[in-house]
Amino acid sequence: MYRLVNVDGRAALEDDGRWFDLAALSGDPALADPMTAVARAADLHGLAERCAAAGADGTVDGARLGPPVPRPRQVFGIGLNYRDHVAEGGMERPPAPLTFTKFPSCIVGPHDQVPLSGAQVDWEAELVAVIGTRTTAVPVDEAWGAVAGLMLGQDISDRGVQFTGSPAQFCLGKSFAAYGPVGPALVSVDSFEDPDDIGLWCDVSGERMQASRSGLLLFPVPTLVAYLSSVTTLYPGDLIFTGTPSGVGMARGRFLVPGDLVVTGAEVIGELRNPCVAGRGPLAL
Ligand code: ZN
Repeated sequence: MYRLVNVDGRAALEDDGRWFDLAALSGDPALADPMTAVARAADLHGLAERCAAAGADGTVDGARLGPPVPRPRQVFGIGLNYRDHVAEGGMERPPAPLTFTKFPSCIVGPHDQVPLSGAQVDWEAELVAVIGTRTTAVPVDEAWGAVAGLMLGQDISDRGVQFTGSPAQFCLGKSFAAYGPVGPALVSVDSFEDPDDIGLWCDVSGERMQASRSGLLLFPVPTLVAYLSSVTTLYPGDLIFTGTPSGVGMARGRFLVPGDLVVTGAEVIGELRNPCVAGRGPLAL
């Protein structure tokens, strides 16, 4: 069991609210890089056991936390993966995972500001699966073994850009700078009583907008990993945003405005706290 965090850009393990610099704890300077730490996730279980006897480097402070996986090679998003979210959008259940990309430059930390690109920017609370080993065509019943752990993510989405023209296109509207907050920790799969049934929620400026459980995913994490890896090789540190439940702003007629605070939470994992500020929209054509 471990919780991997990014403190001031360096990999650290979190234990009971304290953090331990991973390079110092392990004696291996290469493990200062969070991407190296993710690629060696199997080693983190043993290193986490050293925390109890080691001196902590500090108390976890949200302002110093970066994304646990700062430079993923590939970031997959899955659309329409909860039945109630399919219904609120008036859509059909997809026959296979509806897959798009969030360009990796949108990934930010759990407390970073989100500059809004317009007047139709929406929230989407999601569990994010982090790949731990290079994976091609893994069977469903072995797919959890390819996953280093889970984080929370916000799949912030500019609906104006997403639904410009027909057919809709997802990638750009979900990839503005800071539209991919993740964290607060990468939590190992064995930390969960049932990794296939985790409660998650989203509050916007104190109002509960989303509340669901990952047990309701139409395509659960092992199916997503197996399906995606049947098409494309997955690499350590790749992220899969697994989809959002109902309660998004588009269905409520309420979008994010500067000054909003988006709090995204999940059992065991913790919370993201992202304040919204004024930003810049796409080039007008
Ligand atoms: Zn999404």
